[in-house]
Amino acid sequence: MKAEILCVGTELLLGQVLNTNSQFLSIQLNDLGYDVYRQIVVGDNASRLEQNIKESLARVDVLIMTGGLGPTKDDLTKETVAHAIGEKLVLDLKSAKRLKNYFIDKREAFNENKKQSYFPKSAVILPNDMGTAPGALIFWNNKKILILPGPPKEMETMFLKYAKALLAYSQGEFYSEKIWIAGMGEWEISKKLNESGLWNLKNPTVATYIDHKGLYIRITSKMETQQKAEEEVKKISHKIQKNFGLNFVGINEEDLITKTGHLLMKENCTISFAESVTGGMMASKLVGVSGISKVFKESYIVYSDEVKIKNLNVSKHTLKKYSAVSREVCQEMLQGLKEKSDADYCVATTGYAQEGEKSSGLVYIGVYNGKTIHIEEKKYKGNRHQVRIQATMDGVNLLRKKLLEDVSRETN
Ligand code: AMP
Ligand code: MG
Repeated sequence: MKAEILCVGTELLLGQVLNTNSQFLSIQLNDLGYDVYRQIVVGDNASRLEQNIKESLARVDVLIMTGGLGPTKDDLTKETVAHAIGEKLVLDLKSAKRLKNYFIDKREAFNENKKQSYFPKSAVILPNDMGTAPGALIFWNNKKILILPGPPKEMETMFLKYAKALLAYSQGEFYSEKIWIAGMGEWEISKKLNESGLWNLKNPTVATYIDHKGLYIRITSKMETQQKAEEEVKKISHKIQKNFGLNFVGINEEDLITKTGHLLMKENCTISFAESVTGGMMASKLVGVSGISKVFKESYIVYSDEVKIKNLNVSKHTLKKYSAVSREVCQEMLQGLKEKSDADYCVATTGYAQEGEKSSGLVYIGVYNGKTIHIEEKKYKGNRHQVRIQATMDGVNLLRKKLLEDVSRETN
């Protein structure tokens, strides 16, 4: 079933108020199994609003509206809906009584707010337990129009308590899975999916997303039963996991950081960091994984040359000859860290993140497993934070890949 969300309020268009209602409703409607096709925002203008209502109703099964239910002249949602569907507004006695009780000592306030008790004739009224403006559900031409108040607390409470059950229908069950990918850009992922015929599928659908934990592919299926949906998703999921090889990180909760922490714990491998440009970000991310104390040994923020010399025994000569941001210094940082911490895996970063400077974005990231040293040179784009976060994620990914390679070598 198709749905659209139409939020009313000039304050939203002016950017004074963030449209959180759309996000809340999208999450709820998707949960209920609706396909949400559009989120629309219209100002407090009757003709534009009516045009949008009519256009939406021509496209969808359910139209959800928020805002414009207040007592003032610019609140015109109900009037406009009534006009669009050719109905009259009539007084709902129950709502009027409730409002009268609410303003028991304030006759004038009641009169000013009375407008809130008028609804299109065929509406089912939804009580507002958090404020004065009731909402409504209107059945019209085999379609539903849900009218909710603007203030998020009132809207959310009304939706969850009264509207959700009225919108529920059972036409299939959903199952979806996240597949975390590291070491590739979003465009590379979609190119690879496309090449293997896994892009543009209809059911399951496959799409890529980015959040603060990294990049992931989401596979979603809708079938008669959840079990069937899960089976369909798993088929595609296994194909993707195989196709992406070492770039495949984990599924659902297993994002890059969590998965790497779990791998270290599973293999009982200890870890230490020496961070220059990332300034402790790698260590901080891994410390966020529950139980990591079992394997996390120590970590250094070695920002200045003196500290690199003092703590990691990096030679003055190397620093002078190659500069602090070099493969050679990264290598000595790893060797110094290994000597100091004796961790099974040592990871080090050194780089430039000075915005506006030509060399900004040049970063060396290395991992040392006690036998071989692997160092990568990166050239990142973006501001200081973006360079540091990319280096952090790539550093953890390098560690993860090294660990997986070592484990598979041992088991073969
Ligand atoms: P209204 O029902 O249009 O009078 O809206 C009352 C208040 O609710 C507005 O002043 C906003 O602060 C808030 N509001 C309205 N629509 C939204 C929305 N889509 N998202 C978040 N807040 C909203
Ligand atoms: Mg308004």
